[in-house]
Amino acid sequence: MARSHRPIEPAAGDPVDALPGIGPARAADLAALGIANVGDFLHYFPADYLSPGRRIRVADAVAEEPAVFAGELVSIRLIRRGWGRSIVEGVLDDGTGRIRMSWFRAAYLAKSLKPGMKLVIKGKPTGKPLRMLHPAFETLVPEEGESDFERILPRYRSLGGLPQKTIRKAMAVALHAIPETEPLSDRIRNALDLPGRADAYHFVHRPESEDEIIRARRRFLFEELFRTQCRFAETHRARLASRSKKRVFEKTAVVEQLIASLPFTLTRDQAAVLEQIQKDLRSGCPMERLVLGDVGSGKTVVAAAAIAQVAEQGGQAALLVPTEILARQHARSLAELFAPLGLSVRLLVSDLPAPEKREALDGLADGSISIVVGTHALIQSAVKFDSLALCVIDEQHRFGVRQRAALTAKGKNAHFLLLSATPIPRTLALTLHGDLDLSVIRTMPPGRIPVATKHVAGEARKKAYHHMRDRLREGEQAFILFPLVEESEKADWKAAVEAEKKLAKTFLREFSLGLLHGRLSSREREETLRRFRAGELHALICTTVVEVGVDLPRATVMIIEDADRFGLSQLHQIRGRVGRSRLASYCYLSTHGSVGGTARERLGVLERENDGFAIAEADLAIRGPGDLLGLDQSGHGPLRLALQEFDPELVEWARKEAWESSQAPSDGGLPLRAG
Ligand code: ADP
Ligand code: MG
Repeated sequence: MARSHRPIEPAAGDPVDALPGIGPARAADLAALGIANVGDFLHYFPADYLSPGRRIRVADAVAEEPAVFAGELVSIRLIRRGWGRSIVEGVLDDGTGRIRMSWFRAAYLAKSLKPGMKLVIKGKPTGKPLRMLHPAFETLVPEEGESDFERILPRYRSLGGLPQKTIRKAMAVALHAIPETEPLSDRIRNALDLPGRADAYHFVHRPESEDEIIRARRRFLFEELFRTQCRFAETHRARLASRSKKRVFEKTAVVEQLIASLPFTLTRDQAAVLEQIQKDLRSGCPMERLVLGDVGSGKTVVAAAAIAQVAEQGGQAALLVPTEILARQHARSLAELFAPLGLSVRLLVSDLPAPEKREALDGLADGSISIVVGTHALIQSAVKFDSLALCVIDEQHRFGVRQRAALTAKGKNAHFLLLSATPIPRTLALTLHGDLDLSVIRTMPPGRIPVATKHVAGEARKKAYHHMRDRLREGEQAFILFPLVEESEKADWKAAVEAEKKLAKTFLREFSLGLLHGRLSSREREETLRRFRAGELHALICTTVVEVGVDLPRATVMIIEDADRFGLSQLHQIRGRVGRSRLASYCYLSTHGSVGGTARERLGVLERENDGFAIAEADLAIRGPGDLLGLDQSGHGPLRLALQEFDPELVEWARKEAWESSQAPSDGGLPLRAG
């Protein structure tokens, strides 16, 4: 019957194998990637576009300027270099000139690309004569018609092994299955000039102009933010509804006593945040508060006050930190702080001697230990609490949702206090953690002198080392830090070891040096830090193990080697290891060889800027939120677009719209304020 020849138009809810070119086996692969039905598939957006608008003639190409060319492939060959290494080299001719292209480790291209094919390529030409390394490309097959040469071509990231062309064909069919629903109100769409859902899908997958792409992405970005905020509003409301007397902790004299015992007074922001926390602890609703503050803004003491308050009233408090170094440091400083209050502190890390560990586990289970500081060891299943009432997570971005959940499961609706490590703009915090209440510590403790920061290379680098030696001679301390890069971890660890050996014999031979890197046992590392803290060691040669949290106030010089290999926020974190006292401090960003444009830009930002919030904002502009926070974008399904581009204004709108439209409780309104 003719019927059976008619293409079947799938619906959004149909499984993906309703699309042409996708069989049941592929469908299973896609389902594993979170794409189960045609609607999900529609939401698989192009990673990139090859736009004729940016297309230029090869004759007009300029080195180092990104360009799109279209032309005929005149030759293609595979060059083998042994050890599985291969280069594919091709030449493209567009009638005005020729350009060479090379792809590494892509031997399959020599088979799939044939001379005579029409290609659109995109990349940055370099050298003389011009060539392109690893250009992105699209083949234009005759049946797609010559006119397609003029179309904007979407490029999809490979999806479960599906070739571009299959994705594109399947998408053309999927575009007939756009659901009719429109989750956004007319009012908000008009206010923000957002296209309707159906239009937006066409705009992303079959754009007629660059403007359409931009408008569609903005619409989907808003929709994503809106949905996330609706979920946040929901969780928040559920939390407010779960009041319980058991969770009430009054403000007691112990807090005043603790604050009075400090050698300083709290900054205004510290005091304000502490007050917010106390309100939470009194409310009977489980606290879920995130404290954003720059490195060195004094988050620890605020958390300490909350811990003391809860512990004194019979609740158990746990402080979870990402590294053992930090756990030991916090355990020590809390113990000192709490001793006059009659509160004791336990340490729980994985390599405690067995009897000590047993004691800690027993004490937590029977309630005789009220305060514990620990690493991941704290969230192991063997750890049971009698009445866990407060969880503090330091450097919270280092922990995943799962780890937080593991800790949550150990107490009945315990209060949660999360301390950030990266000061991020409030709107970004709302995007990621909008279900939490937010506190911001903006002011730094008084008397801090900004860390003088300088990018040094060549002669200037030598001067920096001499300056460091002068400071050491004055009795101050220094760090020399080497990057750890995953692929060559070993080599970089070696760089630190070799530098230590050499410096100990030559330039710094009058001083005692310490070596700190991830390959040492935690005992060795702890001993080195102890000696550094005690002043027995003058300089620490280290890798990024000192990045987070370590507080050593006599350290005044930080030399970061190969600083161009770090991200901006990470450099700021590292720099935060110095400048923690009233002594003038210095940070030298040392580079070797030529430094790329964006790296130079990053180092420039650090030279000018000491404020972590401002730095995060610059980082956001340079790298986008996902990279800034080190978040894997594929692992954050609901925030895919929001991690690629950041639009604070849309965040504010989405939040307002979501919290208002979902009938917040009468005491609510917009419960999340930045404090
Ligand atoms: P971070 O916010 O990075 O965790 P810390 O809590 O480690 O910072 O505090 C950094 C240093 O500042 C510590 O040595 C701490 O004792 C000190 N500090 C904290 N608050 C104040 C304050 N109000 N005045 C002076 N020094 C302070
Ligand atoms: Mg800290």
